Amino acid sequence: MNIEAKVTPLRHAPRIYTRDEHNISRRNISPNALKVLYRLNGAGFRACLVGGGVRDLLLGREPKDFDIATDARPEQVRELFRNCRLIGRRFRLAHVRFGPEIIEVATFRAPHAEDEGQAHVNDEGRILRDNVYGGIEDDAWRRDFTVNALFYDIADFSVIDYVGGVEDLKQGLLRLIGDPETRYREDPVRMLRAVRFAVKLGFRIDPVSERALFEHGGLLEQIAPARLFDESLKLFHGGCALQSFEALRHYDLFARLFPSADAALAHLHGGFPATLIGHALDNTDQRIAEGKPVTPAFLLAALLWDPLEEQRQHLLASGVSEHEALEVAADTVISQQVARLAVPRRFTQMTREIWTLQERLIKRSPKRALRAFEHPRFRAAYDFLALRASAGEPFDDDVAWWTDFQDADEAAREALLGSAKSAGGGGNGSRRRRRRRKPA
Ligand code: ATP
Ligand code: MG
Repeated sequence: MNIEAKVTPLRHAPRIYTRDEHNISRRNISPNALKVLYRLNGAGFRACLVGGGVRDLLLGREPKDFDIATDARPEQVRELFRNCRLIGRRFRLAHVRFGPEIIEVATFRAPHAEDEGQAHVNDEGRILRDNVYGGIEDDAWRRDFTVNALFYDIADFSVIDYVGGVEDLKQGLLRLIGDPETRYREDPVRMLRAVRFAVKLGFRIDPVSERALFEHGGLLEQIAPARLFDESLKLFHGGCALQSFEALRHYDLFARLFPSADAALAHLHGGFPATLIGHALDNTDQRIAEGKPVTPAFLLAALLWDPLEEQRQHLLASGVSEHEALEVAADTVISQQVARLAVPRRFTQMTREIWTLQERLIKRSPKRALRAFEHPRFRAAYDFLALRASAGEPFDDDVAWWTDFQDADEAAREALLGSAKSAGGGGNGSRRRRRRRKPA
């Protein structure tokens, strides 16, 4: 089977939407992107806004960034802009910088020539090279979804549609260009992108693209863990973490990213871990909506909490000390996780610290309490304790104590520390060992 023959249908004239047939206004385009478009066009090149920028403008949403596609070669782009850098070895892109804003300019690309056969894909059909220049139509067909393959041409302000993207946009339909199985095989990350866009835009996935999604999740195992981490961040820090999680679980893709967390969820059929994870995701969405900072370490702490507990209990049962059980269990679950998803060390380190601080926040001898409070991860650990309480663990009093402590002045803090538990536990210290689970 020849891949291109399946991906690129017969050539045909595009549907052109003139400037009075669509709602894109230059007022909503970044002035810097306009500057780049005009200068390219003035130098005699074709210059179009493309991808998510066009899609979001047509939907009346604010684009995250503005990407430009052109028939100018990267070197020609560089000659036009002093503030331009060429990046990428495999496929060169031009980055035009305006202060903090970077406008990405890509030369139109084509799928590989048909006489080249399968040389650019591996045995599973995955694209290994994607570095041939082409015309605007080629560039449309190589893109992932129809709604992502629209061009806004600065020459006459028209929208150019080779793939039926405008119709799909109106229908709220996310449809892969070409044969879904082939396109997922070429680049399995498109499955995660399908979930991300469907959730973010509130679109349905077209039935053929959706069926293939259920069938080919296993292809994600070929993808480099670093790329899977990047995609996961977009899924979980894009403002729709909870819905993304539910959709990933629905398509059985979550297990490809977080195998141990998925196993815990499947094995326990909801209950505490599901509630904890649900609250953590919800919390992330709220923070993003309020413009507060978020860290992957926090979500990771929640996602891996149950696998951690399972390992820890196992080690404790074999007679290991509490301290060692936690250390070894954390090592195990984190190293299993990063083999699949390359979470950078600064985050996994923070996840560990959130976990180790839990006991100190609960035990709360005067000395431990002060030390915990001065720890750089105190706030994240406190938030995590609050999360556990909200998911049904009996720590409401501890959370309240720490809330008071943070709000208190020096004298009130002294008083609170006086009321802290004496070393060795006592009081409600015994409850920490066995976690009570609220019925689901
Ligand atoms: P976002 O709002 O998340 O930036 P986007 O559609 O702009 O969405 P990008 O990842 O910025 O997504 O990619 C820009 C464009 O490049 C896409 O719209 C699509 O046309 C094309 N593209 C990106 N990744 C792929 C891929 N894996 N396969 C095919 N085309 C892709
Ligand atoms: Mg984009």
